[in-house]
Amino acid sequence: MVIYDSVAKEKRRFVPQHGNDVTLYVCGPTVYDDAHLGHAKSALVFDLLSRVLRANGYHVTYARNITDIDDKIIHKAKERHVSIGEITTTYIEAYHHDMAALGIARPNLEPRATESIEAMIIMIEQLLANNHAYAIENGDIYFDTSSDHRYLTLSGQLQDADARRQRVESSHLKRHQSDFALWKAVHDESIAFEAPFGRGRPGWHLECSAMIEKHLARDGAYAIDIHGGGADLLFPHHENEAAQTRCATNHELAAYWMHNGFVTIEGEKMSKSLGNSFFIKDALKVYQGEVLRFYLLSTHYRANFNFNETDLLASKKRLDKLYRLKKRLFGLKAIAMVTPFQTQLLDALNDDLNVSKALALIDEMIVLSNEKLDINAKDKVAKKEALANIETIATLLGFGTNNPFNYFQHGIDTATRQTVEALIAQRNDAKRAKDFATSDALRDTILALGISLMDTPEGTFWERND
Ligand SMILES: [Zn+2]
Repeated sequence: MVIYDSVAKEKRRFVPQHGNDVTLYVCGPTVYDDAHLGHAKSALVFDLLSRVLRANGYHVTYARNITDIDDKIIHKAKERHVSIGEITTTYIEAYHHDMAALGIARPNLEPRATESIEAMIIMIEQLLANNHAYAIENGDIYFDTSSDHRYLTLSGQLQDADARRQRVESSHLKRHQSDFALWKAVHDESIAFEAPFGRGRPGWHLECSAMIEKHLARDGAYAIDIHGGGADLLFPHHENEAAQTRCATNHELAAYWMHNGFVTIEGEKMSKSLGNSFFIKDALKVYQGEVLRFYLLSTHYRANFNFNETDLLASKKRLDKLYRLKKRLFGLKAIAMVTPFQTQLLDALNDDLNVSKALALIDEMIVLSNEKLDINAKDKVAKKEALANIETIATLLGFGTNNPFNYFQHGIDTATRQTVEALIAQRNDAKRAKDFATSDALRDTILALGISLMDTPEGTFWERND
């Protein structure tokens, strides 16, 4: 497997530090609002990565944190006159709901900041003891970026020489412009945690380093194998995480760094159905989770993603083809089978998650399978092979996991659904009573509604003709 290391800025062969075990950490959401498309993109990319790693036989421990203490959360709680816990519980549930709708598996660990305060305090004490951190007069504790000779090597940011030279000779302030808060002292009644260096709240950057030490780190040159997140986190967040870890412990933070591109949106063109919203919950009102998943994963994870409805609909048409093939295989039992397609698909994804190649292989497989079934609709070998291929696509990419009939019923309103289902029930009754004149008449009524029927041993399935 080869992945692009965004710090080395090149593709590197992936070799875990500890045999078959892989540790993966991804920066998760701050839970003060609904999840937007940027959250979805990051969660999807690393969901895909963990699936591909597992398909290669690795034992993956994947952790994605939840920032449940933050000024924005406190602000929202005040604004709504509710507790912080009410805000975080609401948005953690919403986040889980939206991610599940996109077919994103839960990581193995979802550490929360408020449950990791002790680990953060330990790290601050280490940094204070090593002279990598200092307290200012009001009790805030800062990381001293000038004490880390490797600071800025991760992001490759140009060193701001002026900021470094301009030492502010006052205990009221931090010493250098690039220094960042590890701990913010709290002197009033607002929410805070007790620590040997004073009551306060942790700085955001600290959380990830402390959680990694607590939950994932093992002996070795690096605390973990892969650290992931959105490209916007490389600086300063990941730079600061890396600095804290190397200065507080005897290892570097991660052996490989992976960053996904930005998500932008074409506001005006989106306005018809989605408004200018980036929220997944709004997109889910219009589109199936799986369609969004397919669309958001259809461009390479490192490329910036411009969300627009035209591309989304084109993307859906591509997914429809997979489901049309799945429909032709309906009722067939899946059997374990090794096909050349499966190997090719994994090879494509092993090349830094080359989704374009993977999707091209899927398109090709669909065409070939349909051709075989066009020649002989009862070709059992072709059917079983196609089904095995679809199962592999579902495992690796999370596409094609639904019942094909349900997939094509999406967006049909409740009234139409009830009408169709009532007519089908009547038709089944007529068939059972061997009243074929009535059952045929009901069939014609249903067809006239633009619905097609498929009778199978599992029952009658229907979908709307497009
Ligand atoms: Zn982080």
